[in-house]
Amino acid sequence: MKGIFKVAIIGLIILLFIFYTIIPTVLIRKKSIGITKRLLEQKTLSLTFDDGPDPIYTIQLLDLLKKYGVKATFFVVGHKVERHPEIIERMHKEGHTIGIHHYQHVSSWFLTPFALKKQLIKTEKAIRECIKEDVIFYRPPWGHFNVFTLLLSRKYQIIMWSDIFSDWKVHKVKGSLLERLRATNDSGSVLLLHDSGDTFGADIEAPRYMLESLEVYLKESKQRGLTFTSLHEAYQNRHIKRVI
Ligand SMILES: [Zn+2]
Repeated sequence: MKGIFKVAIIGLIILLFIFYTIIPTVLIRKKSIGITKRLLEQKTLSLTFDDGPDPIYTIQLLDLLKKYGVKATFFVVGHKVERHPEIIERMHKEGHTIGIHHYQHVSSWFLTPFALKKQLIKTEKAIRECIKEDVIFYRPPWGHFNVFTLLLSRKYQIIMWSDIFSDWKVHKVKGSLLERLRATNDSGSVLLLHDSGDTFGADIEAPRYMLESLEVYLKESKQRGLTFTSLHEAYQNRHIKRVI
């Protein structure tokens, strides 16, 4: 009898966890509820970079974007912002958009509503202190939502992606990143890349190789006449529309 009770409790906990995490994530992403995956633009793409700022790779990336005159968007981790405010100030000065990617790189699946709110508020505060402007955009780490995410982040535009490349793994970057970048649809695609390799499961040196492929891609894209927009520019031009 005691054994059955234990199994029932474990079963109930698993069920509650699924309802708190996996079901909202699948529903929101499949049905595009309250999120943006693509922009309403032709011949224009949006480059987005997650998990920074990184004192080495983000600087190299900013130099590269400057060289090709490209404006991008960075979804940054709050505690890294506090460590490297000068990088955020540079991003802002050079016309890039900065959005929230939680204070620690933690999945919403393991956050209570209160803890999730705290992640958002602390990161917004850290960014705000650097850019002295409102923070508009949010991308949840790992693309994970819990039941409360849409409610708690309603003041932000949630930006997901249309293209993801596993660029956090060196062998994937070396093997296929450039080909996959070249194959991207140029009508409003939102590309997700990473300018830091210290996230759990990533290779620390992956951004180094990502930057090599990105440079070739940017060079070719400019020759093809493609344009890259930051999310802030797209938002001002009303090319981002909330689905709900
Ligand atoms: Zn991330």
